[in-house]
Amino acid sequence: MGRLVMKFGGTSVADLECIRNVALHVEREVKAGHEVAVVVSAMAGTTDTLIDLCRNAAPMHDAREYDAVIASGEQVTAGLLAIALQERGIPARSWQGWQVPVKTDGVHGAARISEIEAGEIRKRMEQGQVAVLTGFQGIGPDKRITTLGRGGSDTSAVALAAALEARCDIYTDVDGVYTCDPRIVPGARKIKRITYEEMLEMASLGAKVLQTRSVELAMVYKVPLQVRSTFEPPDSDDQNSSDRAGPGTIVCDEDETVEQQVVTGITYSKDEAKISIRRVKDQPGVSAALFGPLAEADISVDMIVQNVSADGETANITFTVATRDVERALEVLKPAKERIGYHELHSATGIAKVSVIGIGMRSHAGVAARMFKALADRGINIQAITTSEIKISVLIDAAYTELAVRVLHTAYGLDAT
Ligand code: ASP
Ligand code: MG
Repeated sequence: MGRLVMKFGGTSVADLECIRNVALHVEREVKAGHEVAVVVSAMAGTTDTLIDLCRNAAPMHDAREYDAVIASGEQVTAGLLAIALQERGIPARSWQGWQVPVKTDGVHGAARISEIEAGEIRKRMEQGQVAVLTGFQGIGPDKRITTLGRGGSDTSAVALAAALEARCDIYTDVDGVYTCDPRIVPGARKIKRITYEEMLEMASLGAKVLQTRSVELAMVYKVPLQVRSTFEPPDSDDQNSSDRAGPGTIVCDEDETVEQQVVTGITYSKDEAKISIRRVKDQPGVSAALFGPLAEADISVDMIVQNVSADGETANITFTVATRDVERALEVLKPAKERIGYHELHSATGIAKVSVIGIGMRSHAGVAARMFKALADRGINIQAITTSEIKISVLIDAAYTELAVRVLHTAYGLDAT
């Protein structure tokens, strides 16, 4: 049956009853003959509480101690799940990041996994012991505890699956990846299969099911990935994962997808702010002078649009940042006015980015035109556009987000019938 990594998010381990339910899912897979490793998040809300404690202890705190504190939530759930499994007669033990070890680059609060030494875990799995790992955490080169960023347990799970050459099932509170947020679009449908590339775009453009980094890793190491529900009855027949179709959404290579929609999914994110710099000299080095200092201040810039202004000598540059970064970005740009050489600086919040994603765009014409027409028909103004091979994103007034998303869902024929 092979090796399997099962990952359970915060709502799946929210209390003891939930943890017992998780044990039933694990038991089913063990009985089906899998060698199982489990990766767990902290109980829902715990990481937030721990972060607040650090902030209240001191607004500017030691990043190494912050990691020591916030990594503790996963330690609790790993131990509790091991106990719950033992209660059901299943051999199990918990593993913390440093015990494995899960080695990281040591960047506190946003560490990247460099290597997982999974030899010992693999040996014990072969002997029938379930390994329960703390997600989200590892150790740095200096042996201090590091964490992987919010939602990082997904990445822990995929990295472990890569190290064990295992499949990876991500259990969460929804039963798969949807064509769009079902809370906004009642006709949203569960996607049976989606490519790594599409999932990567969906995750980075606002779908919150999987941490973006985890999808990147899965794509690079070709880890077979499935998103599925914790809250389906663990013992029902269709939960049996030996069925290749799987009960949830399978994330896989392009050649393993069957039917191809032109557009697979629609995402949105509301927390966008737009900054415009007017009448900068149209000459080499201007963009470097503008975006260099923003990068140094750790502000990530998303869409960038440059247009030549009427006089032909100066240009306007517009770009977006997260709303929470807009004040800091302005603080960086105001004093640099002379150096960058611009005339005016404007900013606006309350902007949303709506994106349509689909690998079918590569081979179909008119996908963008259909988007623009659907929005125009509803009188929704597009403020900026960016595209890649498999996605089109537009900026619009955030007040129209829901409407835009619904209209597009219908325009691309995604509504459930
Ligand atoms: N507990 C961590 C968080 O809330 C990691 C995770 O759940 O993936 O971000
Ligand atoms: Mg998560």
